[in-house]
Amino acid sequence: MKRHPASTGKEGREREGGCISKSGELFFRTNTQICSIAKAIYFLTKLLLCAGGIYCQSERKMSRVPGKNPWIDLFTKRVEEMEFEARWTLNFNYSLCPVLDGEQRREGWKIYKTSAFGRFDCRCSNSWSSAHVVILFHYRLRKKRGLVLIRLLRQGCRDCWDSPELKPQVTHPQIQKVFDRLIQKICKNCYGETVEEIERVLEHRKTKPHETSFCEACKLGICRNQADAVN
Ligand SMILES: [Zn+2]
Ligand SMILES: [Zn+2]
Repeated sequence: MKRHPASTGKEGREREGGCISKSGELFFRTNTQICSIAKAIYFLTKLLLCAGGIYCQSERKMSRVPGKNPWIDLFTKRVEEMEFEARWTLNFNYSLCPVLDGEQRREGWKIYKTSAFGRFDCRCSNSWSSAHVVILFHYRLRKKRGLVLIRLLRQGCRDCWDSPELKPQVTHPQIQKVFDRLIQKICKNCYGETVEEIERVLEHRKTKPHETSFCEACKLGICRNQADAVN
């Protein structure tokens, strides 16, 4: 069968669609209009999806803007004070594993786990203090870029039927102490410096008994062992 001369492209496709019916130009126009509307809907959808993507991205970036998050803010200040040659950044990652696999180790990742004193405030008005705010870090220095990933282990509310997992509220002095210890690890493990380990003076604070079944760190087996004592 002989093929028609090439009628590729928009014009050819429209004509093909428009000429199937012999009811005249009106149908052709209507069909073209439908095509235009469909295209408009398509582009509008794309635009909305794109705008949504940009919005989500800007939301993600928001949490990294210094001043918006105390962890990011205090980390940025702390590494500036250290005057490292490398640029160090901190990112949240709530799927960090409590152990490194072989590949991560080969890629230079190190791990550090510590704890702090913090508070949890649920929307149901229940709130509690905890010496079991566990903080997990993965960190590495590569090609003059330092990256720290942080995961704050969450706790669930015992009074809520769906027990929402809540992120801890930690005071600035507590966060600073956490970063003092992390920076020591970085100096030792990424720069080979000899550092004297900061001895943690554990202070007893009165809190309710630790609810292991509502604690993410307990479920992962990385919760702190000493009960209700923190520096
Ligand atoms: Zn609650
Ligand atoms: Zn726990």
